[in-house]
Amino acid sequence: MLAFLRFYTAEELQLTWTAASDLAAKGAGRGPWLGRRLRVWMVSFLDDESRLPRLGCFWIREAMVENEEIAQEIQLHLQGLGRWFKAADVVAYSGREDVMVRWGTTKAIAESTARRWLKDLDFRYGTPVKGQYIDGHERDDVVKYRQEVFIPKWEEYQKRMILRDNDGNVVQRPPPDQLVILQTHDETTFYANDQRKSRWINKSEGPTPVRKGEGTSIMVSDFCSPDNPNGWLCSKDGTQEARIVFKAGKNRDGYFDNDDIIATTENAIDLFETNFPQNTGTKALFLFDNAKTHQARAADALSARKMPKGTKYWNSPSGVPMRDARFADGRPQPLYFSDGQFKGMEVLLCERNLWPAQGLRAECKKFQCPSPDAVLPTCCARRRLFNQTDFKNQKSRLQELIESRGHYFLFYPKFHCETNFIEMCWGRAKYAYRMYNIPRDEKEQEKNIRKALDSVSILSMQRFANRSARFIDAYKQGLSGSQAAWANKKYHSHRTLPPDIVAEIKRSVE
Ligand SMILES: [Zn+2]
Repeated sequence: MLAFLRFYTAEELQLTWTAASDLAAKGAGRGPWLGRRLRVWMVSFLDDESRLPRLGCFWIREAMVENEEIAQEIQLHLQGLGRWFKAADVVAYSGREDVMVRWGTTKAIAESTARRWLKDLDFRYGTPVKGQYIDGHERDDVVKYRQEVFIPKWEEYQKRMILRDNDGNVVQRPPPDQLVILQTHDETTFYANDQRKSRWINKSEGPTPVRKGEGTSIMVSDFCSPDNPNGWLCSKDGTQEARIVFKAGKNRDGYFDNDDIIATTENAIDLFETNFPQNTGTKALFLFDNAKTHQARAADALSARKMPKGTKYWNSPSGVPMRDARFADGRPQPLYFSDGQFKGMEVLLCERNLWPAQGLRAECKKFQCPSPDAVLPTCCARRRLFNQTDFKNQKSRLQELIESRGHYFLFYPKFHCETNFIEMCWGRAKYAYRMYNIPRDEKEQEKNIRKALDSVSILSMQRFANRSARFIDAYKQGLSGSQAAWANKKYHSHRTLPPDIVAEIKRSVE
């Protein structure tokens, strides 16, 4: 960076900004990739002197994957390969002429490095089987949810959103009583002292519970929207925030669990309503990762999993009596007799006229039924009750909370982080975070994290949101994960992909 500045300010050289940075990169034995990085770092440094990059860190091959830009490039390349790929595919990619020029490298990475990178990227890919990795992205159940549930709902809501082009100009603004404001949520981890370890968390089943007391990491949970005044969700007067920063401290043992996500969401709804008063009719659409901690149902939710077949005094697994079920016509069906005895599966099915004359066994062995998706299973009582609409449609506690407040709720499809633009905000923030000096203590670390998060501009968020919308549009138009990745590399300007690009990708990419 010093060489860059000296070249630029040396009057006898008369170099432009770009030429000076490229020359400095060349002097370090690197290519245009470093030159570009130098320019980014310098602008950032001139803006805030504390943002001095930790030199030496970024062009060590091992650390390259921690550069979010390169990580995303690899991720999209892998997505372009389809369902299966090997570490060798990453090696081959890193050895491509155009890639080496871009990264400023001179040879392909080693296979061991590729394997380490894949491990670092494992938030996207399932467990490796015999050296191959499967892309959970295209799993049948995941695609089914994406195409049949997520996209139709998204399309319906998107018609009611404020839409902008990539320069931030509004191109669609529905009236307030129609308006839907997206609020996307996610959690991420910033690592404490060794900033090079800022590894993405595993997303294959969503964020694993993070111990709050662990000294090395700080977790952030936040909501953001391209329509919030500052992007990140705050109260209108700016005094309250939706952001939760879990400090590493001995007195904060425990996990970020379902109770925490419920509490932060309740707070988020309150904050949203200070910005968008409810008498205007404007609604929020809250979007979450489909993670285990987010899926939990209410303590009194209907569940056929442990119910006894016969009538008896019975405690539900949660210890809380279950709410009423619903008959097909919508009338409530109490699960208990007036003396407090639990009716049991047989009585419940009888009351629905669904108990066959020849009877049903309570449950197939280990609940492994021969045809679990049948509308009216004939194998066992548990499956028959389990597949009843009211039992099947039990919502998560999170969804019930949001809908009870009059807003909308949606889970992102699993493994599809490209559809949640907050991922790109994390990436941008972590990039800024690594520019700061290593924090002296936890207090400074939190300060740095907040500063890094707040450095993500509203225009960036609007562009990130457009990029995610473009991915969703690609899936809507029938592109696969690999094709969508290709389309997004080729085309950056709108929220939707033009039909000729879609047709070309369908022809040329598998
Ligand atoms: Zn069965």
